[in-house]
Amino acid sequence: MTPAPDPARYDLDALRTRLLPERGGDVDDSIPQLAAADPDLCALAIALPDGTVRRSRDADVPFSIQSAVKPFLFALALADTDGDALDRVGIEPTGESFDAIKLESGTGRPPNPMVNAGALLTASLVEGGDPDERAGRIARGLAAFAGRELDVDEDVAHNEHLLGDRNHALAHLMRAEGTLAVSADDAVAVYARACATLVDAATLAVMGATLALGGVNPCTGDRVIPERVARDVVSVMATCGVYDGSGRWMRAVGIPAKSSVSGAIVLSAPGRLGAATVSPPLDAQGTSVRGHRASEVLSEELDLHSFATR
Ligand code: GLU
Repeated sequence: MTPAPDPARYDLDALRTRLLPERGGDVDDSIPQLAAADPDLCALAIALPDGTVRRSRDADVPFSIQSAVKPFLFALALADTDGDALDRVGIEPTGESFDAIKLESGTGRPPNPMVNAGALLTASLVEGGDPDERAGRIARGLAAFAGRELDVDEDVAHNEHLLGDRNHALAHLMRAEGTLAVSADDAVAVYARACATLVDAATLAVMGATLALGGVNPCTGDRVIPERVARDVVSVMATCGVYDGSGRWMRAVGIPAKSSVSGAIVLSAPGRLGAATVSPPLDAQGTSVRGHRASEVLSEELDLHSFATR
């Protein structure tokens, strides 16, 4: 049996150079700030249990976290409700796009926390008596996952709130079903602000590692969420994290992950490491084309596939 390769020595810049010639995919154009993203931005990072963070070139370039925030919103909702959030949101994959106007039949709950309906709901379940308090709790929670304070891009937050018609529709639908307790506009505002949080690949890798390592941030040593919550979140990333590409993702990459329209992917390899990739051009499922390829290579070369027996 060959020993597993050492991630502490892995050459992320060499992988980045291999990825750059890949030209597939389109940059998201749902809001002007995302449409203006540099299609040639490409960065990778991994965060290890001893707190080491390995970065490629450009791993400190900021971007809005977008849907890569969803696992962390789910985690905070589970932690703040003592697990009751699991009664309020389903955990089954949808096989549909991230913003499908659809709730679970029979219950009117969102199908899972990794699609927009679910994240609108989990963001509404974090502790706080009004939208500002909830946004503050989310900001502090994300900072604990990251190990540092994170800024919000106010223009992105504003435009996501203003232009997110499908998110408003989903929130109203959940109001009509009685599954969303806060006002539809408050729900969209808090979720939009969370999506507009600025991270970079290195920071996102640390956030992914905190989930992968049972809820303890490997850089600060702080327990951010209970171990059981981390396990629940990573399980749902594995089944639902890449929207209607989740099955193909698990076969090819085999690492629980969450994609996002900014072209970021956060990966949590249980007990092993956290990783992040960013490259804005997306495939039809909204997954970064270079990020998907990078994740396949990392999985293969660092022996990270959850179901590989080597
Ligand atoms: N803020 C985006 C939205 O709600 C996130 C979608 C994504 O990253 O997949 O439309």
